[in-house]
Amino acid sequence: MPAVTVDNVLALERVRRPDPATTELRPVRQVTTAPHGLEGEGFPVRRAFAGVSLADLDPFVHMDQMGEVEYAPGEPKGTPWHPHRGFETVTYMIDGTFQHQDSIGGGGLITNGATQWMTAGAGILHIERPPEDLVASGGLFHGIQLWVNLPRRDKWVPPRYQGIEPHTATLLSSHDGGALLRVIAGEVDGHKGPGVTYTPITLVHATLSPGARLELPWPRRLNALVYVLAGRGTVGEDGRPVQTGQLAVFGTGDAFAVAADATQDSSTSALELLVLGGEPIAEPVAAYGPFVMNTRDELTQAFEDFHAGRLGSIPAEHIGH
Ligand code: MN
Repeated sequence: MPAVTVDNVLALERVRRPDPATTELRPVRQVTTAPHGLEGEGFPVRRAFAGVSLADLDPFVHMDQMGEVEYAPGEPKGTPWHPHRGFETVTYMIDGTFQHQDSIGGGGLITNGATQWMTAGAGILHIERPPEDLVASGGLFHGIQLWVNLPRRDKWVPPRYQGIEPHTATLLSSHDGGALLRVIAGEVDGHKGPGVTYTPITLVHATLSPGARLELPWPRRLNALVYVLAGRGTVGEDGRPVQTGQLAVFGTGDAFAVAADATQDSSTSALELLVLGGEPIAEPVAAYGPFVMNTRDELTQAFEDFHAGRLGSIPAEHIGH
């Protein structure tokens, strides 16, 4: 799992350990297991949020763990051109490469620790594919695609593309060096990440060494979701077991605790976690296919606008591809 790594975690700025006298640790409300599915032209995903209510996910809507899969030559798959409206898609590539292009001229290669934060807003078309050379060679492919809702006031903003390069993520250490934190967006204990968001969102990829325990300060106004990308560990004060493909939903508090088992299996050398927090938008959600709106009428309008070509058009050099 390359993402972004460092030689010496202890050389990084450290996140303070929450003071137990004044900190309410968040309880674990739910642990769910992501079912397997297929996305786009048939690449394997885990549906990370299956079985969790939208109210508990808010402002997040949907998340797929793409892979981890080792493709044979000629096998890598992507998505065809498709539209979005009313939310943001966030693609974080851990291993391998995805090539993105959209109808506003945004795009590029997302690879090994890079994030693409695409605001669909009023409407956009995009395509995501492995580059030709990766299709030819095959190889490892592992990433995350997350859907972040927009509040009613921002659903019609112009589309926007943010390419967040791997080296721009803010790297932090836990208080004892047992965990490496990559802050992609939002902030952890006052340390800001590079991603720009419409509502308060924090997105972190944490790597816990075997046996490490992490207590992370987490503002009360944000929800707290921890998804296991790889490895085995526990969540919460009472040490509830979690493993690859499981999501923990935390309740209210000022911080949460996670820990890596002392022994990991052969597929990973550490516990790899995606940590998400967002301030709930608390508006009605009408989601269908590629659109996330507030009402069914707005969904109908989105489909009509798409078919009328009002969500953008495929750039000329791509027609026929
Ligand atoms: Mn898409």
